[in-house]
Amino acid sequence: MSDGATGAHRPAPPAFFLHAVAAGGLRGLPPPVPDDVSGPAAAAQGAALGAHLLRRQRAQRAATLVGGGPIEQRVPQRAAALLRLLWVDEGFRDGEQSYRWRERGARMAHDYVAHLDPAAEPRGVERSVAARTEALAFSGRVDRLDDRDGELVVVDYKTGRRPVTDDDARSSPALALYALAAGRMLRQPCRRVELHHVPSGRVAAAEHTEASIARHVRRAESVAADAVRATEALRAGEDPQRAFPPSPGPLCSWCDFRSHCPEGQAAGPERQPWDALGDEGDED
Ligand code: SF4
Repeated sequence: MSDGATGAHRPAPPAFFLHAVAAGGLRGLPPPVPDDVSGPAAAAQGAALGAHLLRRQRAQRAATLVGGGPIEQRVPQRAAALLRLLWVDEGFRDGEQSYRWRERGARMAHDYVAHLDPAAEPRGVERSVAARTEALAFSGRVDRLDDRDGELVVVDYKTGRRPVTDDDARSSPALALYALAAGRMLRQPCRRVELHHVPSGRVAAAEHTEASIARHVRRAESVAADAVRATEALRAGEDPQRAFPPSPGPLCSWCDFRSHCPEGQAAGPERQPWDALGDEGDED
C-alpha cells in the first residue's frame, strides 16, 4: 500500500477501488468499469490530473533537482530554468494561462532556492522508502531527506494556497510513515518532519516520538484493514456499491471516475482541471 493509498480509502472508497483496479492491485476481480477509465499512470500524464497538481509536481521537481545537483548549479536562476524546462501545458485552459502559471512557478522556485544553503548536502532527494509493520507494508517517496547533526529530517514540499502549519506536519500520516521507514532503512534516528511551503518560504515542523509514530501506524493499519475487508467482501460476491460505498464531497467535481459514480455526479457539477486555479496566475 502506498502512502497515498492509506489516505485514499476513507474519503473516497469507490475512487480507491477504481484506482486499485486500474493499477492492477486487485487482480482476479471482474472488471467493474469499462476499459476507458484511465489509471493513475495515465492520469499523471494528462489533463485529468488537474493543472494544480501538475503545477505542484513541476515546482517540486525543479526544487528537488536543484537541491540534488552540483553545488555550483544550486542557484535560484537554475531552479527557475529547470521549472520552465520541465513544464507541461496539459490541464490549462490555453497556452496563455499555462505561460502565466509557468512564470509564477518559476518565481516561486527561484525565491525558495534563494533561501537554501547551497553547501547543505541532502541525504536524499525523491528518495523511495518502504517499511513493514505487523499488519501493513507501505512505500512512498520523500521529497528531500536531510541529515542534520546525525538525525534524519523528512522534508515535504507544498505549493498550495494555504500556508502550512505545525499541526499539518504533526498530523500527516505520510510524513510519520516516511520518518519510520527512513529511520529503519538508513539506521538513523528520524523524528523531525517538515513541510516547506514553497510560495511563502514558511517551514512547518513536528518532532515525532515513538508513541506518535505508533499512533499513525495504527491508523494506517486500520485504513488498510478496511480496504482488505472490503476487497474480500467483493471477492465473495458483495455488491461493489456496498463494499466501497461512495463518500461524495467537493473533490467529486474533479474525480476521474465521476462518470461511473451517480452519487459523485449528484454532489456537484463537473469542473475543468483549471477551475481549481482561481485567478492567482492572472496577477501579472
Ligand atoms: S465521484 Fe466522488 S464519491 Fe464517486 S468515486 Fe469519485 S470521489 Fe468517490
